[in-house]
Amino acid sequence: METTLTNLLDLDPAQLIDYCAQLGEKPFRAKQLQRWIHQFGADDFDNMTDLAKSLREKLKTRAHVTAPAVISDHTSTDGTRKWLVDVGNGNAVETVFIPEENRGTLCISTQAGCAVNCRFCSTGKQGFNRNLTVAEIIGQLWMAEFELRRTKGIEPGPKGERQITNVVMMGMGEPLLNYEPTATALKLMLDDNAYGLSRRRVTLSTSGVVPMIDKLSQDVPVALAVSLHASNDELRNGLVPLNKKYPLAELLAACKRYLEFAPRDFITFEYCMLDGFNDSDEHARELVALVNHPVTGINCKFNLIPFNPFPESGLTRSKNPRIKAFAEVLMNAGIVTTIRKTRGDDIDAACGQLAGEVQDRTRVQARMEKMAEYQQKFGADFGKIVEIRS
Ligand code: SF4
Repeated sequence: METTLTNLLDLDPAQLIDYCAQLGEKPFRAKQLQRWIHQFGADDFDNMTDLAKSLREKLKTRAHVTAPAVISDHTSTDGTRKWLVDVGNGNAVETVFIPEENRGTLCISTQAGCAVNCRFCSTGKQGFNRNLTVAEIIGQLWMAEFELRRTKGIEPGPKGERQITNVVMMGMGEPLLNYEPTATALKLMLDDNAYGLSRRRVTLSTSGVVPMIDKLSQDVPVALAVSLHASNDELRNGLVPLNKKYPLAELLAACKRYLEFAPRDFITFEYCMLDGFNDSDEHARELVALVNHPVTGINCKFNLIPFNPFPESGLTRSKNPRIKAFAEVLMNAGIVTTIRKTRGDDIDAACGQLAGEVQDRTRVQARMEKMAEYQQKFGADFGKIVEIRS
């Protein structure tokens, strides 16, 4: 009878203990195994030298450690590195590493495609393909951390310098619509026998799936970012269709409840700057009224994102002076506000440009060509780092 091999990347710490128990092994063996996998990047049981030989032999016939295969690997002139990873059946997702002076941030995907269909997001335009498994989600971190170390000649294991210090779930997909695998992957990121990241260094970005925000606050309250993009329901209904189901009042109430379980934290509100659409001083004042309200007010910061236009959206990027003026209204009201610089655009890794490679992995070159075409159409700064200082 054929037995299916278990991919150990699919198991969270508790599940790995159960798995080892089924093999007649004690819980400490699960911890050893977990350290080999997630701290040393080991995928060959023969290399796990402090495991008993009998256990290694058992594992070889019943389990494997397999992250999604890398289809392409590009490094931008600014050091941003983007992998396109295969998640089967013609689907692929992107994983992006953004190095900065004191930290390295990995942006990972949780779904192939996305059903939410936000108007400003090119991922949404391709529709939903499927949810990623735990192994496919945590496997992006596993692959990236150990690949970055290999590239730099840094030894695996806790003594080697960690390359990824922060994780953001802001890639393809709505993480809270793929809840269980996402929560399991988050638990592994925080676990001391795996990646040991502090929960404030792991950010989940959601378009506002209210019941799942509450669930996350109970299960694994990592830092929360919310794609807001509008200052009232009418505007948001046209940008984030999910708003019709969970309007702003409900969303903000969920954010407030979330902070009860993540004290001393704040919510990051992401706000895509769309020319003539959501970027007036009046919109900024409306936002101030929302988040500084004496009853519903929320401890928050704003991250203004210059939009990267794509033709199907019918939207364009706000001009830089407008973005600055908008930021000033927020800052004058005492709200911490940053303006995101886009990164890695020469390899097409800017936010909202994740679509198009799913279903057809031969299109990387075609997309590069398309980027050149967009630059001709929208100006030379399309896809370039936006130099705005607040
Ligand atoms: S912004 Fe996020 S939730 Fe909205 S369509 Fe894009 S990937 Fe989905």
